[in-house]
Amino acid sequence: MADLPTPLPCPFEKRFPSQLQRDDAFYMSLAYNQAIDAWRRDEVPIGAVIELNGEIIGSAHNTVESAHDPTAHAEILAITQAAAKLGNWRLEGATLYVTKEPCPMCSGATLMSRLKRVCYAVPDPKMGCLGGATDLNALPRVNHHLELTVGGVLETECRDLLQAFFRLKRTDP
Ligand code: ZN
Repeated sequence: MADLPTPLPCPFEKRFPSQLQRDDAFYMSLAYNQAIDAWRRDEVPIGAVIELNGEIIGSAHNTVESAHDPTAHAEILAITQAAAKLGNWRLEGATLYVTKEPCPMCSGATLMSRLKRVCYAVPDPKMGCLGGATDLNALPRVNHHLELTVGGVLETECRDLLQAFFRLKRTDP
């Protein structure tokens, strides 16, 4: 068995948002903290949380490397957790907060799980499928549509984290 790679030290700190102000920035801060945890485990720093009526019902980060699973994206793991917690695959009324625009697989999952809303921090013109590269939410025959909040919530912080990670990866001998 190969040795696990030594994680690159994460130069970013977790956020400590006020519990009193339960707004988009609050929930995105929790997703950001998941992304920091991902980095510390040498995973691409993307995090997601799912909120329903002010309660966190799912919270995860990428585990693609450690799980050897290309489907182990933050959004998929958080959706699975939330559905298990509710005992219901329909996440009606829930909002997914994720630090980067969902990929084709995760964008599909946000529709299939009937989330009410998706709020993502960093648009992804290459692989994002909720407005970046394409928009699955705009398929004319899909009968469930999400409310979308595209960028603007901790966007700079989440982008800085991703860019710094990939910059370090590239220079890692
Ligand atoms: Zn994904």
